[in-house]
Amino acid sequence: MTEKDMKDKAVTESARTESTLEYPLKGECQCGNVSYALYAAPLMVMACHCRECQKLSTSPFSITAVVDAKDISFTGELQSWERIAESGNRNRALFCPNCGNRIYHFNPDAPETVKLKLKPVNIAQSQLFEPQAHVWVSEKVGWYQLPQDVKVFLKQPF
Ligand SMILES: [Zn+2]
Ligand SMILES: [Zn+2]
Repeated sequence: MTEKDMKDKAVTESARTESTLEYPLKGECQCGNVSYALYAAPLMVMACHCRECQKLSTSPFSITAVVDAKDISFTGELQSWERIAESGNRNRALFCPNCGNRIYHFNPDAPETVKLKLKPVNIAQSQLFEPQAHVWVSEKVGWYQLPQDVKVFLKQPF
């Protein structure tokens, strides 16, 4: 197979996978008290390697799906906590008060996008949440190897 054939095949396969996704996609926290319905694909998905995200996710990085606020709805009681990001933007974090899972973040001064933290764990849906960019790699743990073919930023690019 030529390189072009392989590229065409990859494009066809990803189109096929996307088309099998049935919206809304549903996700819920560990205890199930909070759930959400996602009505369209995220605008973008990124992995963040900053220290805050390492704490938040208890892993080397967190994955954020930036979603148009009108494309998602949440059900269940949420509590919030707020911090100021390095950019000076307010970062309000919403979480389930029962199990503590982080559900989403948003900037109260720019509420038109939601940064979804908790994803569906259904394997058939997981490809939609593969990060296109890795940010804050200046704080990345040494043992994690970045994948090929992703955009990489030392800090927050947007
Ligand atoms: Zn919960
Ligand atoms: Zn981060």
